[in-house]
Amino acid sequence: MHRTHTCGELRITDLGKTVTLSGWVQKSRDLGGMTFIDVRDRYGITQLTFNSEDDEALRSQARELGREYVIKVTGTVIERSSKNSKIPTGEIEIKVSNLEILNESKLPPFTIEDETDGGEDIRMKYRYLDIRRNPVKNSLLFRHKVAQEVRNYLSSLDFCEVETPYLIKSTPEGARDFIVPSRMNPGQFYALPQSPQTFKQLLMVGGLDKYFQIVKCFRDEDLRADRQPEFTQIDCEMSFVEQEDILNVFEGMTRHLLKNIHGIELEQFPRMTFDEAMRTYGNDKPDIRFGMKFGELNAVAQHKDFAIFNNAELVVGIAVPEAASYTRKQIDELTDWVKRPQVGASGMVYVKCEADGTFKSSVDKFYDQSDLAKWAEATGAKAGDLILVLSGPANKVRAQLSALRMELGNRLGLRKPDEFAPLWVIDFPLLEWDEDTERYHAMHHPFTSPKVEDMPLLDTDPGKVRANAYDLVLNGNEIGGGSIRIHDKDMQALMFKHLGFTPEQAQDQFGFLMNAFQYGAPPHGGLAFGLDRLVAILGGQETIRDFIAFPKNNSGRDVMIDAPATIAKEQLDELGLGIK
Ligand code: ASP
Repeated sequence: MHRTHTCGELRITDLGKTVTLSGWVQKSRDLGGMTFIDVRDRYGITQLTFNSEDDEALRSQARELGREYVIKVTGTVIERSSKNSKIPTGEIEIKVSNLEILNESKLPPFTIEDETDGGEDIRMKYRYLDIRRNPVKNSLLFRHKVAQEVRNYLSSLDFCEVETPYLIKSTPEGARDFIVPSRMNPGQFYALPQSPQTFKQLLMVGGLDKYFQIVKCFRDEDLRADRQPEFTQIDCEMSFVEQEDILNVFEGMTRHLLKNIHGIELEQFPRMTFDEAMRTYGNDKPDIRFGMKFGELNAVAQHKDFAIFNNAELVVGIAVPEAASYTRKQIDELTDWVKRPQVGASGMVYVKCEADGTFKSSVDKFYDQSDLAKWAEATGAKAGDLILVLSGPANKVRAQLSALRMELGNRLGLRKPDEFAPLWVIDFPLLEWDEDTERYHAMHHPFTSPKVEDMPLLDTDPGKVRANAYDLVLNGNEIGGGSIRIHDKDMQALMFKHLGFTPEQAQDQFGFLMNAFQYGAPPHGGLAFGLDRLVAILGGQETIRDFIAFPKNNSGRDVMIDAPATIAKEQLDELGLGIK
């Protein structure tokens, strides 16, 4: 028998028991005639003692143990003379009578403790050692708990988990596909799914009614920070539903998670239209844990001789709380920050709202006190606040001010990790103009239904058509998104036409879906949550990597197994990819 108990289990109530434990050597210390060893497994750490007076040979054996050796010990549970209140087993220790080495270990390349001396690269190369550390191990356990709660909640509502295929067909819509050559069909390729979208819709045609899947998805995109080429979605679809039904079910799921994981009970989630989110936060995934809402200033700033503002499509500002006391140097630093190429503002105007009710600004030459009072009103600034104003093309300037708002939110400690502020963003535009290809793309995907009342605009002003599409936003992150789908074949054909597909292209790429729609497709809709990010946010962290057992680095590499890698010429030949 390898163990009677785990290394995290024994307590003062177990005194006198003879026990066997197995685990890894975390640490050893010699004190006079005694040797102390900390043995660790997934469940915790227990202290072992070896006393020369009892058994000199055994103690010498213990002194030979290196870090991370795998051992099995048998002994008696005794009370510790110096107790350690920091660990649950801290009141006891094991007086060892037998020690067996199950496996030796090379000296690990970094310390396997909560605070490690190992950098990111080395930890990823030896990820199996990293996983022995509490922060990583606990993140994986936490992820399991979230996934389990998701399964519990959805199963209780009759959702059925179905696996959909990983080897599917490539389509040009959306992101770039990962491609898999087919050996049996030379010259032909599978693609790995970017999401199970069409399959889950076909499951609705199949009458399954409520589907979910915790599923890997693959997107061959240039990796931005904290993106993974393979990631996990909680993918869901329901039949005979309207947007309201879906929002309710998944608001319920999010509430269930927060309650069961953090004991937090939330009120009904606020809702905001896409337009409102863009106007008030410059962003379709606003972090509403803090204010600094946008105040549009065109009406109160474009009547003087300040050409920069007069020529701008949008003049917009935020009030930074209690920042009127910022020094010239601090404001210059913020100005430089917004002028960095990553943000791209051309300049920044400030107004200090002094405690005595007067204003002092960088544009005093152009604007008087009563003008600036109107700016304060529009941005909601109070005495003691600092108004920061950007101007330029509306979309760009909103993105710039949004970046500044988030940066200040971080700097001022307003983005508290233990506070959860969800919100639904609804009424997304159906289409998005793409400068590169000079055509409209589906903002969500081509299966999203437009709002019936906006349909006439499809021919006249397609950019104005709103979709039955929604995102769930949590603390400034999009954690889920979906839509009510088109379930009518003519409507789907019309949508493909608007997206620039010829009828042949539409048939070639999505014929299977439109064919299925000829056989009684029910009204349906759904959404998908990004599990990696959801888990990280619920865990109060910003980076998703530690919640993934074997993540890829920023170049999309797995540095542990060293992938991607070249393959042998014979393999290439067999796949019909050999160089002729
Ligand atoms: N398949 C969509 C996505 O991956 C989600 C959905 O519409 O259900 O974003």
